[in-house]
Amino acid sequence: MKSLERTGYIAIIGRPNVGKSTLLNHILGEKISITSRKPQTTRHRILGVKTMGEFQFIYVDTPGLHDHEGRALNRYMNRTALSAIHDVDVIVFVVDALRWTEGDDWILTRLSQSKAPIILAVNKIDKLSDRSQLLPYLEASAKRHDFFKIIPISAKNGDQLIELQKSAGECLPQHPHLFPPDQLTDRSDRFIAAENIREKLMRVLGQELPYSLSVTIDAFEEEEKIVRIAATIWVEKVSQKPIIIGEEGSRLKMVGQRSRLDLEKYLDKKVFLKLWVKVKTGWSDDEKSLHQLGYI
Ligand code: GDP
Ligand code: MG
Repeated sequence: MKSLERTGYIAIIGRPNVGKSTLLNHILGEKISITSRKPQTTRHRILGVKTMGEFQFIYVDTPGLHDHEGRALNRYMNRTALSAIHDVDVIVFVVDALRWTEGDDWILTRLSQSKAPIILAVNKIDKLSDRSQLLPYLEASAKRHDFFKIIPISAKNGDQLIELQKSAGECLPQHPHLFPPDQLTDRSDRFIAAENIREKLMRVLGQELPYSLSVTIDAFEEEEKIVRIAATIWVEKVSQKPIIIGEEGSRLKMVGQRSRLDLEKYLDKKVFLKLWVKVKTGWSDDEKSLHQLGYI
């Protein structure tokens, strides 16, 4: 019976690097949102859909919030993250176990302006040698806001994620489902491919990664058994090009191989991936270029 269905939006909010995308991927069981140790990983809003019986959870993964705005790309990311909080049924506010920063206070003040209940997810508890260390942290957290629930989790290992989903489920209104039961995300395979390439670049380049790097898909041709993808990696300076390409193309090759493996798993087909590196000056601080690169 349709009328018994419960459907709602859940915003996943928090500082960069607290584990928001890892959480979403673990809940969905598929890698739709890229993750890395670097703070700038998630730049776009991305929906992850999970249907379980009468419940349909529509998760909104957001870029991490920055308490200093500055560049156009940061402003874009803050706008994207904050615009998510007003139209959702529940907010999952992710923090790092044992660390509460000024940035967290800044975010909580903004979240408090939304009418949605807030679940505090205290992540990375797998890193604690002794879980009793958590108790004073949880008590202090309870005084900061009237949270709907406070749940210690490990997004990486999956600890307590069922608990978290149950609590979020309690906040979902009665509403017919909005997506077919097998749909995982609102994003196209092209988008997932571009993001996956960006993730591999972030991981392979480490500290050498140019702050402003972007990936566009030039061709995405799906045949019966193979998907042919051509992509361009955009950097801001000519000097960044050889860093990405590596000696005799070794780095670009590594990025291509790793990304191909992930995409073959995600698309369930063989993937042929071709990568180019091109220079586009000053895009991360220029609204028009941001637009052209898909940051709308
Ligand atoms: P986001 O910026 O909030 O989306 O954070 P990510 O999901 O990209 O994760 C940032 C980093 O934290 C990555 O290196 C993750 O592997 C790591 N991480 C995320 N969740 C956990 C966790 O539960 N435990 C541990 N030990 N590491 C985690
Ligand atoms: Mg993220």
